[in-house]
Order: sequence, then structure tokens, then C-alpha cells
Amino acid sequence: MPLSFDNTEIAFKYRNDKELKRAHFLFSSMSSPFLSKTGMKLTQLAMSWNLPVKSMVKKTIFSQFCGGETIEEAAQTSATLEKYGVDIALDYSVEGKESEADFDQALPEFIRAIEYAATQKNIPFIPIKVTGFARFALLEKIHVGDTLTEAELAEWKRVEQRIDQICGTAARCKSMILIDAEESWIQQPVDDLADAMMAKYNKGVVVVFNTFQMYRHDRLDYLKKSHQEAKAGAYILGAKLVRGAYMEKERKRAEEQGYPSPIQPDKESTDRDYDAAVAYCLDHLNEIAVFIGTHNEQSCLLANEIMMRKGLKSSDSHVFFSQLYGMSDNITFNLADAGYHVSKYLPYGPVKDVIPYLMRRAQENTSVAGQTGRELGLIKKEMKRRGL
Ligand SMILES: Cc1cc2nc3c(=O)[nH]c(=O)nc-3n(C[C@H](O)[C@H](O)[C@H](O)COP(=O)(O)OP(=O)(O)OC[C@H]3O[C@@H](n4cnc5c(N)ncnc54)[C@H](O)[C@@H]3O)c2cc1C
Repeated sequence: MPLSFDNTEIAFKYRNDKELKRAHFLFSSMSSPFLSKTGMKLTQLAMSWNLPVKSMVKKTIFSQFCGGETIEEAAQTSATLEKYGVDIALDYSVEGKESEADFDQALPEFIRAIEYAATQKNIPFIPIKVTGFARFALLEKIHVGDTLTEAELAEWKRVEQRIDQICGTAARCKSMILIDAEESWIQQPVDDLADAMMAKYNKGVVVVFNTFQMYRHDRLDYLKKSHQEAKAGAYILGAKLVRGAYMEKERKRAEEQGYPSPIQPDKESTDRDYDAAVAYCLDHLNEIAVFIGTHNEQSCLLANEIMMRKGLKSSDSHVFFSQLYGMSDNITFNLADAGYHVSKYLPYGPVKDVIPYLMRRAQENTSVAGQTGRELGLIKKEMKRRGL
């Protein structure tokens, strides 16, 4: 049977009626730009003033998009998803930390997550952000090629050691590390680190993935270049493909600082490069492991079509799909039902620390024409089917 993402019974099987109604309420609210913007601003303010809004946030937007505040809470969500053949990318989603003490504190949390994941059947991935282990300004400085002071060189060495410790632990535990991509103006040191980690740990197996944001017009070429480098270095390229989450910020900065925007001129160009990247990776599966991180149904269908045409098994060990927890369950659960390796990015962490993550989710779910329209339509369809 051809793959379809329309089956809402499969998509929402893991959600009880109450959860489905909550999702309906949230996506309806987020579809209004006014409600979404005001809601998130007020939440941020209330949290910074220590007003008692945590429990409200936790019961609403937090439970829709996050697995819990601790690894133990996230474990319960993960166990539910395992019943449906859905894997987890367990994402300690604390952002905006800038001190050495914070970075040193984050490291054991990640090591604990990797070691815990190794004891579970359905947690093959641990995503990391290099900004969780390095000062943003330091990354910016390295990105533009400024000379580092002695102290900064030592600071960077500590960053490399933290990332190496994480990747080394993952290699030992047979887990996989996804190095997220963030702002383009810090990406060079992130790419360099990812390449170094892949060269060290991806010999014959895939432990580390770098992320390619296809909303950048230079990334398709960069993907191919990374592939050639991996071939020359005799390691497997781990390629996590996303469109990119910082478009407005990227365009604004480019305009303000008067340099050409790194972002594609339009959505069609992003889609074209995303699909070309998927096809490229599927053409080189002996040398590339691909992680297709998207909520775009057409891109997932295209990947499925190419795999069928090539006679690849849906469970190919070098092909992984993934969606964010709380979004596009119709894609995730229907892919799992069809035997694909598919995971949910499952963020966890203290409510106040995952607010930047939740802000991005609210922002990307605010356009009624796009994802939210589709999401709401599916939820309504399932509510009707259940007679709610
Ligand atoms: C599992 C997973 C992991 C992720 N990890 C990362 C990560 O590490 N780094 C990161 O930056 N993002 C990450 N994201 C978010 C991702 O980059 C997208 O923001 C999000 O998934 C929406 O894109 P889409 O492919 O799902 O779908 P779509 O809804 O088809 O595409 C929306 C995206 O298209 C692009 N776009 C929209 N309008 C335009 C335009 N006018 N011109 C050019 N491009 C346009 C933007 O990137 C926008 O986010 C991740 C997403 C998933 C599912």
C-alpha cells in the first residue's frame, strides 16, 4: 500500500481524549498571531518576575511539546511512544546558558542521558547544541577567524573536550549524537567540531551527525563537500537534514549589518534544496547515514518513493526520520506503522529553561496557512472520528 499520512486513528492512538482536546485548544490559540505573541511575551515576563505561572505553562504548552522536567519524567513519555514503534531523540533542552559553571554542570546531565538511553530500547539519539557547552561570543569570534587570546584558547580546548567526552561516551554506549545547527554566524566552529568528531568516531559505524540547514543557499554544496571529506577520511558522514529554524533572525541581522542574507530567496528554493539533499543522501547510503528531520509531508513521501524505487527496505539502517514531539504525529506514527526508523525529538528540562524552545514552537505554529492549519485539521478530524 502506498504510504499515506492521512490516518488520524494511527496518528493519535497514543493521545487520550483529554490530551487531544488540549492539543486542539493549543493549536487553535497559536494560530492567532496576536494570542500567540502576547501569550509568549506574558509567559516570559511572568517567569522572569517569578510569578506562579509555572504550573499553568507545564499543564499546557510544556506538556504538548516537552517530555517532562527531568529525565525520569521524559522516560514515561518515551515508554508510551515505544509501544507504537516510535524512537526518541532525548533532548536536554536547556538554552541560553553562558558561564563555565553552567557548561560544566550540563556535561554530566548529557553523560547521564546517554548512559540512560543505552539502557532503553527506543532511545538511539541524543541531540546536543554546541552553545550548551560554549560561550556564544567565543563561537562568533572563531567563526570570523579572529585570533584568540591565551585564555580563549584554553576556553575553546575545554569546549572541545566536553564535546569529545559526549561523543566518546556515545560511541561506548552505541548511541548516536545529533549536533544541532543554530545561527549561521557561529556555524563554522560547530561544523569543524562535528567534522572532527565524525572523523574520530564514525569509522564503519555512525555515532555523530552534523546538521545541514537547507534554508541556507550554500548548504547543498556544503553537504556534497562534507561527503567528499568523509570519503577521503574513510568515515561515514552523518547528515541530519533540516530546513532551518532561525530564518527571520538571519534575514534581520543580514539586513541590519548590510551583508547578503545566507537564506534562500523563497520557500520553493528551500524545498528544492531540501529534497535534493534527501535524494543525494539516499543515493550514497554506503557512505552517508541520513536523518530526515522534517514535518513536511512531501519531503517524507519523496524519501519513501526514492527508497521504494531503489528497492531499499523501510528499515534501512542508514535512514532515519524524525519530527518534534507534539507536532506532525500523523507523519511519525504512520511512518512507524510502515516500518521506518522514526523518532520524536523529545525535549526535557526545567520549565523556565526550555522557554526559548517553546517560543520557537509557538512562532512556527502561528501561520494558519502552513503547519498549524494542517495540524488543527487532523486533530479536528480525529475528534470527529472519536465523537468528541
Ligand atoms: C527532528 C527535527 C530536528 C530539528 N533540528 C533543527 C536544528 O538542529 N536546527 C534548526 O535550525 N532547525 C531544526 N529543526 C527545525 C527545522 O529547521 C524547521 O524549522 C521546521 O522543521 C520546519 O520545517 P519543515 O521541514 O518541518 O517544514 P515546512 O513547514 O515545509 O518548512 C518551513 C521551513 O521552510 C523554510 N522557509 C519558510 N519560508 C521560507 C521562505 N520564504 N524562504 C526560504 N525558506 C523558507 C524555513 O526553514 C521554515 O522553517 C528541526 C526540526 C525537526 C523536525
